[in-house]
Amino acid sequence: MNSPRVAIVTGAARGIGAAVAERLATDGFAVAVADLDQRACAEVVARIKSAGGHALAVQIDVSDEDSAARGTALVAERLGPPTVLVNNAGVLRDNLLFRMTNAEWSTVMDVHLRGSFLMSRAAQAHMTKAGFGRIVNLSSTSALGNRGQANYAAAKAGLQGFTKSLAIELGKFGITTNAIAPGFIATDMTRATAERMGVSFDELVEHGAKEIPAGRVGTPADIAAVASFLARADAGFVNGQVIYVAGGPKG
Ligand code: NAD
Repeated sequence: MNSPRVAIVTGAARGIGAAVAERLATDGFAVAVADLDQRACAEVVARIKSAGGHALAVQIDVSDEDSAARGTALVAERLGPPTVLVNNAGVLRDNLLFRMTNAEWSTVMDVHLRGSFLMSRAAQAHMTKAGFGRIVNLSSTSALGNRGQANYAAAKAGLQGFTKSLAIELGKFGITTNAIAPGFIATDMTRATAERMGVSFDELVEHGAKEIPAGRVGTPADIAAVASFLARADAGFVNGQVIYVAGGPKG
């Protein structure tokens, strides 16, 4: 079957999302590089284009219904119907429970959970019509629980249930839905965590690497490789899975 080769990657202006967008472009997808600020996506789009790929910067706030719907429609119009969606946009609002504000709770739920819901709902219309689709949600090892991350852990665990439910609903349309649960990946997000903890990023990386069986922290490319696999046409029997990409289980 000749499936349309158009992918949307959210939160793609930097970090894991940027690496996934670049990898999917190398795989031959026309990629919508979606993030809050269109200008922030420009560098990623330029890198993809200079490597001979096809990409479009799209401003989408995944937590906003209109923005998600309009952004997805724009991608369909400019690149073709999206048949791959990587729900990667994310934020942290870490705090201990007794200090966590309503806003810190809601922001994390809105971006990760509501955002993945809104984007998936908008994209599935194109996927069901094409009879082919790949949805990849970014969960986290934090889904198993993490101090100071009651909001984030709940959202990332929620995404696992969301993933399995979509897999059950959409499987018969040729659409797979899977989740990647990264461990420690070196990005601006983990840099910000080091700052919040009052340690240098190098110290955090060194400490993290000691706890990881693979002996190192992860890179955005480690996650992009798995997203690339899940987006493939011949990965169609992998559905509803959560793939931990964390250099091994905790010892
Ligand atoms: P990052 O902070 O470097 O990048 C996140 C991107 O999402 C940013 O470009 C940001 O502008 C964008 N974004 C935030 N809110 C948005 C919104 N409402 N709409 C559209 N875009 C929005 O983060 P990262 O480290 O690259 O993480 C990417 C994903 O992987 C996140 O979902 C994160 O929770 C998950 N993750 C990261 C790690 C890690 O160690 N870095 C581990 C596990 C899971």
